[in-house]
Amino acid sequence: MGFSKWFYLFLTLYLFMAAPISSNISLSPEELDKIPVNFLDFAKKPEVFDWMVDIRRKIHENPELGFEEFETSKLIRAELDQMGIPYTYPIAITGIVGYIGTGGPPFVAIRADMDALAMEELVEWEHKSKVPGKMHACGHDAHVAMLLGAARMLQELRHKLQGTVVLVFQPAEEGGGGAKKMLDAGVFKHVEAIFGLHVSSLYQIGTVASRTGPVLAGSGFFEALINGKGGHAAIPQHTIDPILAASNVIVSLQHLVSREADPLDSQVVTIAKIQGGGAFNVIPDSVRIGGTFRAFSKESFSQLKQRIEEVITRQASVQRCNATVIFNENENPFYPVTVNNNDLHEHFQKVAADMLGFQNLKEMLPVMGTEDFSFFAEAIPGYFFFLGMNDESKGKLEGGHSPHYRVNEDVLPYGATFHASLATRYLLENQPKSTSHKEGTHDEL
Ligand SMILES: [Zn+2]
Ligand SMILES: [Zn+2]
Repeated sequence: MGFSKWFYLFLTLYLFMAAPISSNISLSPEELDKIPVNFLDFAKKPEVFDWMVDIRRKIHENPELGFEEFETSKLIRAELDQMGIPYTYPIAITGIVGYIGTGGPPFVAIRADMDALAMEELVEWEHKSKVPGKMHACGHDAHVAMLLGAARMLQELRHKLQGTVVLVFQPAEEGGGGAKKMLDAGVFKHVEAIFGLHVSSLYQIGTVASRTGPVLAGSGFFEALINGKGGHAAIPQHTIDPILAASNVIVSLQHLVSREADPLDSQVVTIAKIQGGGAFNVIPDSVRIGGTFRAFSKESFSQLKQRIEEVITRQASVQRCNATVIFNENENPFYPVTVNNNDLHEHFQKVAADMLGFQNLKEMLPVMGTEDFSFFAEAIPGYFFFLGMNDESKGKLEGGHSPHYRVNEDVLPYGATFHASLATRYLLENQPKSTSHKEGTHDEL
């Protein structure tokens, strides 16, 4: 492995020659500006790019679901071992936290998610999923490769880093709340800031999109069982029809957003699942429905939750049915709203503009999608952004969770560079004010 001396000198020249290691670094604006450009040049070099592509493809071929990322985690640890990067494992079953730098403050974290989805890949290509019913259809394989790419660049500069970069490889983003489990393990005590990204086919390669404040919604899932009394479809008077009750429940739930929510406070209630009946001439005993609800504030979220339960149980009783509603938080934890910290937004904008040019920095509107990065951003100042990978010359890229999902691998150097640059510049610009600051070590982050 190992980088060429050329690279080391190349980056060091701009990063660190301006100040001795032991003093607080103050780089000129020009020197700071060049960090992301130099990282990007380097990440695009064939030896680094091909290595990241290879990692991504290996993970793509062997997708693993949330909290089952054992082989993925093993591959990551093997790469970290080879680079000589220390780490803590296991955290939240398969999660890994690596450390690069002094082992002391400031601590800045960069995060990748590792899990795949329970779906069949329909893309025919050399590195198609080898596991039936599982697919990396959200780009988390690329996220891992990017974070390892950043780790490789940062490790080369470890003796020059003024603080510690914390690498976070987390399990179970897709509904399992892996971020929350990692936080609960208590390994982020001294981390001052955390950055996360998601590849996106909505934006062109070489562009990024984000915003300050709320960027993704908070979400929850619910399921309801509506019980009636089954019987012959031609003699409804002897039955209590749960299908009719479920139909009215579904219609009534639509009123929560259209009639009860402030039109300027975005919310969603969607019934995405309905199961009941199996014959044309039989009224079933029960119907099961399920769905998701989303909101941008804690108040709206808990109001929705309460009203969903009331509407389902009361509306079902109008048709003489009994309904029970469950919000299975153990299996599907509620995800908080993802809120981007404003200071980190400014930091991100500077780094992104230096790397890609200000015109390639898009201000996005909040979206009702959700991310468990929100758990990190709730506990630590956090920043989440979308990294464009669309390129017409590579054909149309489908959105996440499509069985036809593809990643434009040209995006890998951009992701690695963002991670490495955001972290490096954060450390340079956030040195502790006094040397008497109590130092944490990576064991007690
Ligand atoms: Zn996803
Ligand atoms: Zn995702």
